[in-house]
Amino acid sequence: MLIIVQKYGGSSLATDEQIKKIAGWIAKRKKEGNQLVVIVSARGDTTDELIDLAHRFSDRPDKRELDTLLSTGEIVSSTLLVMTLISMDCKAVSLTGFQAGIKTNGYHGQARILSINPQRILKELKKDKIVVIAGFQGINKEMDVSTLGRGGSDLTATAIAAALGAEICEIYTDVRGVFTADPSIVPQSTKLNEIGYDEMLELAGCGAKVLHPRSVELAEFYNMPILVASSFTDEPGTFVGKESMEVRSKIRGITCDLNIARITIVGVPDRPGIASAIFEPLAQSSISVDTIVQNTSIEGNIIDVSFTVSKNNFGEALKIIESIIKSIDAKACLGDSELGKVSIIGTGMRNTPGCASKIFKTLYENNINIKIISTSDITISCIVNKDEAHRAVQALHKAFNL
Ligand code: ADP
Ligand code: ASP
Ligand code: MG
Repeated sequence: MLIIVQKYGGSSLATDEQIKKIAGWIAKRKKEGNQLVVIVSARGDTTDELIDLAHRFSDRPDKRELDTLLSTGEIVSSTLLVMTLISMDCKAVSLTGFQAGIKTNGYHGQARILSINPQRILKELKKDKIVVIAGFQGINKEMDVSTLGRGGSDLTATAIAAALGAEICEIYTDVRGVFTADPSIVPQSTKLNEIGYDEMLELAGCGAKVLHPRSVELAEFYNMPILVASSFTDEPGTFVGKESMEVRSKIRGITCDLNIARITIVGVPDRPGIASAIFEPLAQSSISVDTIVQNTSIEGNIIDVSFTVSKNNFGEALKIIESIIKSIDAKACLGDSELGKVSIIGTGMRNTPGCASKIFKTLYENNINIKIISTSDITISCIVNKDEAHRAVQALHKAFNL
């Protein structure tokens, strides 16, 4: 019997009607003779509400306690879905991340999955039950609940699909698939029928939250296709897999990430060991740094160093940098958390002249100032003011005729 792994996102489970509708779909697939393992997210804005709730009791909620609190959102969804299925005479059981055998490392709030022991899942499938797993969570070696970072249920889904050797991982969400840009920013954006892992990984890493970047990474590692489709309509979605041969433009998509903050250290002496002195303490505090820009010293051996971090790490990163300014003989440090990163992605950009200049011209014509430019193999990113980021995405989408 084929094992089908499905994941339903939070917006898809927000209303009671939607849970009932999804239960109907799941029951139908079961009746067709499949074994079903379903991963669920917390309903609607539950995770945000739980974070706000925690902050009503503490300015800096303890990370272990916060993780246990947040994990309850997914548990609510899984139990309600199973109650609905049972009321429809379908055999079903809900499992927490712990019960599903998901082991993580110790980083609360951004844990990584270390291993999955699928014995319990397989045992329940053998009893002919539909297994519904609370996404976004596992347990570490202390048996404490740890969560996988925002959007982490996608990762639970692909990891479970890989552990069970499923043919495909189906991700159901509130859009019809992966689009050339976030449809809520660019309503004219086009749905892609298929997309390669490389491009999807860049889109996800640069802010297209429709899939968690690590879920794409994992799917690529196990060469497991992902279907992204709507949980509201029956339309075909987007297949994510090995690079497609689909005829297409050089640019595959444009993303926008508003969760960006920049720190600039000015007047830094240009000598060996400076970069290490700046980034080592950040790494020790598990703060990951995205774009790094250092200018070349022309006169006086003095440089400036800028880098970006995610907004939620901004306060902590700024404090760390302020504390080392004196020891590295730098002049000062400045921070800006009102930024957005706009990225243009496509493997077709490799060796194609003119893409960068078209991006810069479009932003210039729209009077949008670029604060930092960074490039990788298949991506060009521009950091702009946060309040201009959506306009930048819309203008670029139009200029590249996606
Ligand atoms: P879920 O709750 O199902 O996990 P998310 O909110 O995490 O859903 O992800 C879906 C959202 O991702 C969409 O509502 C859409 O606004 C956003 N999104 C951003 N970029 C894209 C894109 N390129 N294609 C599709 N959706 C995108
Ligand atoms: N509920 C978690 C979040 O809101 C995980 C997820 O939805 O994937 O980030
Ligand atoms: Mg999501």
